[in-house]
Amino acid sequence: RAKTEGPGRWAVYEPHRNEQQVARYWLSTAMPAALERDEFVVEFQPLVGLTDGTVRGAEALVRWRHRELGLLSPKRFVGLAEETGAIVPIGRRVLQLACRQAARWPGSGRQPASWGPYVSVNLAVRQFRDPGLVDDVVRVLEETGLPAGRLQLELAAGTVTTLNTAPLERLAALGVRLAVDDVSAGWSQLSLLRELPVDVLKLSGSLVQRLAGTDRSAVDDQIIESLVGLSHALGLQVVAEGIESVEQRDRLRELGCDTGQGWYFAPALGPEEFIRYLPDSPAIAAR
Ligand code: C2E
Ligand code: MG
Ligand code: MG
Ligand code: MG
Repeated sequence: RAKTEGPGRWAVYEPHRNEQQVARYWLSTAMPAALERDEFVVEFQPLVGLTDGTVRGAEALVRWRHRELGLLSPKRFVGLAEETGAIVPIGRRVLQLACRQAARWPGSGRQPASWGPYVSVNLAVRQFRDPGLVDDVVRVLEETGLPAGRLQLELAAGTVTTLNTAPLERLAALGVRLAVDDVSAGWSQLSLLRELPVDVLKLSGSLVQRLAGTDRSAVDDQIIESLVGLSHALGLQVVAEGIESVEQRDRLRELGCDTGQGWYFAPALGPEEFIRYLPDSPAIAAR
């Protein structure tokens, strides 16, 4: 006891914490220049229909191609960017890159404009609070030619209660779809699904990975089943993310989930790789 609470503990702990703070500070001050140099890139993780196995679209996931540190995961920098506000211009760039790619995906032209693969983009709370958000979305859709119906925006389940509904209503009126991301067993704001113009509920990987695992229980199935039932009753689609095995996929299909996402299908792919993954792509048709 004396050892963990004695002065020696601080001698070890403090420098470590300071190092982390320095690293965080250093990363956060590097963001504006990194944005100028176009170091933020987007990868696309396929969203797959669970009943027919077709690719419905992709989630756009940001990465930072850092000059010294290599490809950084959003877990390393998105939280920091939210703290400093840098997430607003970074998120604007992600939206632009994501829509630009989606506008060139094969399969887009041959069906009515609202069909074709869609792209789902994560939005931080800071972006939602930014009064320019809706105008940014309108401008990016115009610039890229992507129909609004092929853009989906994801809001983290833990933050939806703090959001002003006016921009959500305006986005919905444009035809943009809204998804509540990372819904897990503890989410208690289910009534919001009726009050907000939400189209999609995304079940978190943590919930999905308990299915068909060693510590599975009937309760996990029932939680998912009731979330799916409620969503469908309200006219929402359900996407299950973090699917890693065929057992999970099968169980989610049985429980009524519409769409799946996860390493079982594919990891996040580079823009060209994702195009090759699409069934309508010329690369596949030529085989
Ligand atoms: P998210 O929106 O829930 O995205 C899903 C995350 O799960 C991604 O991590 C994805 O790579 C990962 N994943 C996919 N399949 C599997 C699987 O089968 N198993 C497991 N264990 N994980 C899987 P990633 O790309 O590291 O992104 C992490 C989080 O960072 C995202 O979670 C999202 O909250 C945030 N994020 C990513 N891109 C953006 C962005 O452009 N803007 C904002 N604001 N946040 C972003
Ligand atoms: Mg997401
Ligand atoms: Mg997700
Ligand atoms: Mg998620």
